[in-house]
Amino acid sequence: MDIKDRFSEESLQTIKEYLQENNNKSMIFKATFDDNELIQEPFFLSLYKKKNFEETLTKVGKNEVVIRTTKPNQLYPSDMELELSEELYNRRNIAYSLLSSDLDDFYFVQDIDRLFLEEVNIENYFSKDGILAKEIKGFEYRKEQEEMAHYIQDAINEDRKIIIEAGTGTGKTLAYLIPAIKWAVVNKKKVIIATNTINLQEQLLLKDIPLAKSIIKEDFSYVLVKGRSNYLCKRLFNELSIGRSIDIEIFSMEAREQIECILKWGNKTKTGDKAELPFEVYPDVWELIQSTTELCLGKKCPYRKECFYMKTRMEKMEADILISNHHVFFADLNVRAETDFDSEYLILPRYDMVIFDEAHNIESVARSYFSVEVSKISFTRLLNRIYQKKNKRKKEKSALIRVEDTIDEKDLEDSQQYAYLLNTLKEEISILQNIGDEYFDEIRKIYETNTEAPIRKSLNNFEMTKSRFLETLRDKKDIFQSKLADFLTLMMSFNNVIDEEKEKNPEVINFNNHLKMFKAYIDSFKFINSFEDDNYIYWLDINSKRTNVLLTATPLNIAEKLSTVLF
Ligand code: SF4
Repeated sequence: MDIKDRFSEESLQTIKEYLQENNNKSMIFKATFDDNELIQEPFFLSLYKKKNFEETLTKVGKNEVVIRTTKPNQLYPSDMELELSEELYNRRNIAYSLLSSDLDDFYFVQDIDRLFLEEVNIENYFSKDGILAKEIKGFEYRKEQEEMAHYIQDAINEDRKIIIEAGTGTGKTLAYLIPAIKWAVVNKKKVIIATNTINLQEQLLLKDIPLAKSIIKEDFSYVLVKGRSNYLCKRLFNELSIGRSIDIEIFSMEAREQIECILKWGNKTKTGDKAELPFEVYPDVWELIQSTTELCLGKKCPYRKECFYMKTRMEKMEADILISNHHVFFADLNVRAETDFDSEYLILPRYDMVIFDEAHNIESVARSYFSVEVSKISFTRLLNRIYQKKNKRKKEKSALIRVEDTIDEKDLEDSQQYAYLLNTLKEEISILQNIGDEYFDEIRKIYETNTEAPIRKSLNNFEMTKSRFLETLRDKKDIFQSKLADFLTLMMSFNNVIDEEKEKNPEVINFNNHLKMFKAYIDSFKFINSFEDDNYIYWLDINSKRTNVLLTATPLNIAEKLSTVLF
């Protein structure tokens, strides 16, 4: 293909001027496409530097193209470019092109998806004598519904975001369903509808979408997307069935009855969805077998083919319309922001349009998912999951004990190091626990009052890093942080020693997952305790029983976060 088929003459001229000014150095531009998918209006972003490359790319908007100039005959992407360009494409339909500095050749690492979509037309649907009036028995014409549907139609056709406040009785769900579904069907796109309540999800699933389907008379599929923790994990279930993971006597009679029912149900369920259980499961019972990202063995799991959660991923990939709740939606966005769009951990597949219904609480939900937290309780819980002595009162076996029970140290190349690290980890974890408790207790002592009310206090950088009154706290924080780092080093060394067994022993991967959780805890701890990022507000909470101290950093402006991952 000739370069002029994809780059307008003006755009090549602009790029040429920049290249001349900068001695043909590799540079990054962003640009748009015209109606013929021709690149136009390039905008210089920066010289190409690996260090700030990722940050530079955040300035590129939806449906735009990244252009990196290269030396002639070097039109091939680096591994980093391959990865990032795929993310950009998946995230916001951003194309990625390499352009030789002699402006003679180019290569699209990622080309755009069809930019120019079929427009939707709902002209005949909502009027007094429209399709709805003919198809729905007892249809009542509502001017607001018709207007709302038209606003949505126009916003879709013009690729605009739209916010609508509609009173009850407007018929709002059909007003957005019909244009959105028609657009999804005609353009082969995926739409997500995120609601705040289960009631509305059920209404959409059982009533409104089937009704819309009968009216539109098009073939499309829709599915309800639930959070991962709603599904049973086959691997954990299997461990529970063979009595490997718990000591059943520790549970109450009621909990034991639930476990027995779950053991029967788990062998015959086709969905693994806990909503099928005829009782409200105790959280500590469900925790034994629920699917979680942290404990999932991913591709190494022997049950992956039968995994309920993995099966739902396929359904979600194939569906045209996904119904979800705000929490699932923002949890997914948060994973996208944190894992650089690592598809293994995403909850939702790639989508093209989002409709938030019942959106009044959406800001607080979004904010909570982009907040960073550490607490005394979460710290203790994490340490207990890593190692707890075998003890009659302990319900679950910790990750270290599971490794110890399943590895034959004689099989390991460095069995001496294994034994040394295993014992050191067990000894050091109780020291770490004490140091952590001292740090959180120091905060409690400083900020607690004589009342029984919960305490909330905002924290600022100056006070936390400079105040003379907080010197002891800062000392304790430094000791804690350095002990956390030492323990992380120990865990990593242990992980290296047992790594050779990971192909045959899932407990090694389980330990590795705990190592990642521990590292994530340290990262959050460091981030909050630096009090450096002006885009965040920091505060602490102490509960009324004074048993927990929670430190939180919340982004002040979630619009910026959302603009990189959503818009
Ligand atoms: S793939 Fe993950 S969630 Fe599924 S059964 Fe295996 S460990 Fe559990």
